[in-house]
Amino acid sequence: DAKRKAIAYFHERITAFNPELNAFLEVLPLSANYSSGSLSGIPYALKDNILARGTRTTCASDILKDYISPYDATVTARLKAEGAVLMGKTNLDEFAMGSSTENSAFGPSKNPWDLNRIPGGSSGGSAAAVAAGLVPFALGSDTGGSVRQPAAFCGVVGYKPSYGLVSRYGLVAFASSLDQIGPLTRCVDDAYAVFKTIARKDINDATTINNGVNLKANDLPKIDLKGIRIAVPSDALDFEGLDERVKSRFLEFVERLTEKGAKVSFIELGILKYVVATYYLIAPGEASSNLSRYDGVRYGERVESENYEEMIKKNRDIGFGDEVKRRILLGTFTLSSAYYDAYYRRALKIRRIISDRINKVLQEHDFILNPTTPTLPGKIGEISDPLTYYLMDIYTIPANLAGMPAISVPIDPVDGLPVGVQFMGKRLSDLQLLSVAKEAE
Ligand code: GLN
Repeated sequence: DAKRKAIAYFHERITAFNPELNAFLEVLPLSANYSSGSLSGIPYALKDNILARGTRTTCASDILKDYISPYDATVTARLKAEGAVLMGKTNLDEFAMGSSTENSAFGPSKNPWDLNRIPGGSSGGSAAAVAAGLVPFALGSDTGGSVRQPAAFCGVVGYKPSYGLVSRYGLVAFASSLDQIGPLTRCVDDAYAVFKTIARKDINDATTINNGVNLKANDLPKIDLKGIRIAVPSDALDFEGLDERVKSRFLEFVERLTEKGAKVSFIELGILKYVVATYYLIAPGEASSNLSRYDGVRYGERVESENYEEMIKKNRDIGFGDEVKRRILLGTFTLSSAYYDAYYRRALKIRRIISDRINKVLQEHDFILNPTTPTLPGKIGEISDPLTYYLMDIYTIPANLAGMPAISVPIDPVDGLPVGVQFMGKRLSDLQLLSVAKEAE
């Protein structure tokens, strides 16, 4: 039947194009088993830090290279229940730490728009797979922008739901207070279809909430751009790392929104200069704690040594890549008793100030709009200094720190490369956010 044909078609595309793109780390054998449901027979891919029983979940790390998922993540189980067909697991920066997939232990993925360029990250494999038409949708995880940034770099839609709407059960933890699973799709309607399938309160994730967000409607509510109040942070546009080409495409987009009747105001967000520093204290802190479980005892193949302590050291030394080690060192330092007050506790206070400021702006405006990324996707291997990449997370991090929903949608490309804009909405205003993004598409 037609669905079987479609599944076989996507399987063929994966087989044909993946050797070049390296979007998938594992391609599952063609299967014709799927249940009925709202996504019946629709192929998809999972970022390889999300569990699907019986598949490997490597997190693109040597330390988990042979790890077989013992159960389904809640999102995986939900998609299966609605008939979606898992095609494989996608590449990422090791443990989702990075912005390019260059930190993968299994080599970088390539951007389908230009194979010499990065697809972004950390969910770069998912973004490349959707952009190249290897799957209609994929899931990623977003801790500081890892769904939205690769979506922007690959010209697809990437959506991070409000914190707590989607269960993290079965997502390998990076920074638990920031992590959220979200869809990468070709259009906003598809993002909604996936979101309403995966969002729900889950007894296995205590941070999920019963939210009052209506997930029953088949279609997104219609929104009229007329009178919608949109805040554009002028400090975002003054950021020195912002590429002029991205800026002018963005301003053209703002112009068109205004013509359609949206009420756009340029405001001073004020907190942008603190967000990267705050994130890079909090996220590594949580990561250093979450990753302590990879000790060579509970996961992976063990390298033996003369005693217990040496054995752990050796396994972590061999198993983790440079960026993961850097984050563990940073996090262990800032959480240590001598520095906790000076760094970690202060970062928590500033996180609160950032949230308060965003909330304040979102009382006076419906959405905050900015470019998703300050630059176009760069060449693979071009940036070797991690700080350069950290600074590029400036526009996506605020939504994670404040728990807000945010979505990146593609606008007109420039010089043959995709550009994305990001809308951020009030907490739990996910449906309005998706609706406005659809209107702007
Ligand atoms: N680029 C950011 C980082 O390296 C975000 C990663 C993510 O959202 N998983 O931490």
